[in-house]
Amino acid sequence: MAISEEAPIIIAEDVHKWYGGFHVLRGVSLTVNRGEVLVLMGPSGSGKSTFIRTFNALETYQQGMIEVDGITLSHDLRNIEAIRKDVGMVFQQFNLFPHLTVLQNITLAPVWSGKFSKTKAQTVAMQLLERVGILEQANKYPGQLSGGQQQRVAIARALAMQPKIMLFDEPTSALDPEMVREVLDVMLTLAKDGMTMVVVTHEVGFAREVADLVVLMDDGLLVEAAKPNVFFNHPQEERTHQFLSQIL
Ligand code: ADP
Ligand code: MG
Repeated sequence: MAISEEAPIIIAEDVHKWYGGFHVLRGVSLTVNRGEVLVLMGPSGSGKSTFIRTFNALETYQQGMIEVDGITLSHDLRNIEAIRKDVGMVFQQFNLFPHLTVLQNITLAPVWSGKFSKTKAQTVAMQLLERVGILEQANKYPGQLSGGQQQRVAIARALAMQPKIMLFDEPTSALDPEMVREVLDVMLTLAKDGMTMVVVTHEVGFAREVADLVVLMDDGLLVEAAKPNVFFNHPQEERTHQFLSQIL
């Protein structure tokens, strides 16, 4: 199926999800266009992780519709496989494989999925390591790296599948303050190179610099979505004022 380059790459329509009896997503609608950066903010427990994890089918939803790059996310496993190849994800806790070297962490998925031969995957991995500034760490194990370096490996690993979309769930929240910058710099470059990104973060500087849209989520609902200048300087909703007064 041919997909128009102009169509939004992510469309979420009135998405509802329950964890047992708990209504965690209460009717969330959102579109992300190709090449856009969306920053999602909101208090702990508001449903941010749950929501972005629906975009690569790490979470299911019970009502509404999510379409990613023209594919409707449903219980159809073929769709889920197709989507996971196109959507890379970076987590707060890096989630690297501790028993594999940096290089092996990055080449595992491309080789396993048959995307690249081992040799090609290694070439791609080295290019990515150079891009994230840690080429010299290729043969180390995750435990030998700083948090900032591990997170840059995690970004390189996600990029190795050449995804169309990158999801970041609080990628700098587990880092010591002096390592936040090096990870944000990689993300800034990626954004400026045109990657479509959905980023859960409270890094206001990052949001101001590259977000096309900043969204506040609270209690399973989207409260406000606006361009960074409006969101941070002239928010329309009282709840956004309140939230910003806590983080700024
Ligand atoms: P956020 O990322 O904004 O902090 P989450 O999406 O992680 O929020 O969680 C939203 C709510 O859903 C929280 O109240 C959390 O406790 C609950 N929750 C998250 N995951 C599960 C789960 N697997 N089972 C039950 N409740 C969950
Ligand atoms: Mg979360």
